[in-house]
Amino acid sequence: MYGICPAAGRKERAVMKTRIMVKEGEYRLTKAGVMDARIDAEELYCFMNKCDKVILFLKKEEEVDKETEERYFELIARRASRIPLQHITGVQEFMGFQFKVGPDVLIPRQDTETLVEEAASTIREMGKDVEKKPLLSRLRKSEDIKVLDLCCGSGAIGISLSKICSDISVTAADISLPALQLAAENAAALRTDVEFLQGDLFEAIAQGKRILPGGRTGRGRGTKTRDFDMIVSNPPYIRTNSIAVLQEEVKAHEPLTALDGGRDGLDFYRRIVDRAWHWLKKDGWLLMEIGYDQGEDLRKLIKDNGNYTPAQVIKDLPGKDRVVKCRKK
Ligand code: GLN
Repeated sequence: MYGICPAAGRKERAVMKTRIMVKEGEYRLTKAGVMDARIDAEELYCFMNKCDKVILFLKKEEEVDKETEERYFELIARRASRIPLQHITGVQEFMGFQFKVGPDVLIPRQDTETLVEEAASTIREMGKDVEKKPLLSRLRKSEDIKVLDLCCGSGAIGISLSKICSDISVTAADISLPALQLAAENAAALRTDVEFLQGDLFEAIAQGKRILPGGRTGRGRGTKTRDFDMIVSNPPYIRTNSIAVLQEEVKAHEPLTALDGGRDGLDFYRRIVDRAWHWLKKDGWLLMEIGYDQGEDLRKLIKDNGNYTPAQVIKDLPGKDRVVKCRKK
């Protein structure tokens, strides 16, 4: 059984050291074409033992029993079949919070933290604008800043904003009921109050079917038009014929509805740009994640609509265009 990996040696062994077992795991993942084989081999060990990497380091010379070894290589085999690591562990960290994930939602990407950080700093600036106003109008305007997260999936964007910004109220919408049920669970586990509505883009807001933790449904709080100070969205934006070249983990295990943006990848942007202004207050912000090569298309879409200020394109940490931001005129 062992001996595939040079580190494990060629002969059968009665016992194996942790270090050798994890090395063998890495080797099997590499052979299966998994990108971050070492990281994933270590993560699966930590997941199995409910420990962190420091413990793995401390235990690396310890011998593992047969049963542990079998359980570990079972996890490795699942990952080697290209099931995403997060579908095995059931979680993904995003903005420092743990989100439950599964096949019904897109796994939150680090790229998307750029959108959350930009939205959060814009919200902070809005708060400062209120502080600059005379006391009387400040007292009158003691309402929360209202944020809408469209195509919320696991809820990562809206829930993170609701955790890191004070004085905001977040509504999150998605077309997928199972996604919303998971998102509602995430909000409850992270102890934050977010309203979840089901429907196709802005129809969710207009109709207001509210999804509560545990799969119950209720009525929304009756959102009016021109109600939001900010709309954020990470809509599906991959071109239909680029789906085939995505990694196996993504194309075979993540929901296509969260990825496929139509022939040119812009279908959802067209619909959002077309209607977002109707739901925004005057001077309200629209922020969306975009693909690295969609900045110019979005600048043009937003300009041609005529209801927004010129779009600003913001880069992610690796320096690629990642977020588009504009304001309702
Ligand atoms: N960034 C994601 C990916 O490359 C796509 C996210 C999306 O379509 N909104 O897999």
